[in-house]
Amino acid sequence: MGAERRLRGMLMKALALVGLHPWLTCRQCVESVTELLEDELSPRARGRVLAHLERCPDCPRYLHQIEVTIALARAINPGPVSPDARAALLDAFRDRHRSPDEET
Ligand SMILES: [Zn+2]
Repeated sequence: MGAERRLRGMLMKALALVGLHPWLTCRQCVESVTELLEDELSPRARGRVLAHLERCPDCPRYLHQIEVTIALARAINPGPVSPDARAALLDAFRDRHRSPDEET
């Protein structure tokens, strides 16, 4: 990853910390992803998650995996994703996403 991108990420985080920019950490983004896919987010929260997905090098890939997994689960068993399945999915997603510089 380029130094410039890293720098910009640090800047975003700093701005978010002092409340000047609605930047989510990857962890926050991940935690909102299932709500995003199920259309349970407020327009504001949705905008923040989408803004993160636009800039983040990692999250869109995971979002795609989750989308595919949920689509498959629905094809097999139509209806809302059960809370258990949802929690298991979110855990798996979180584990795969862990990265050393994401401890904010
Ligand atoms: Zn991210």
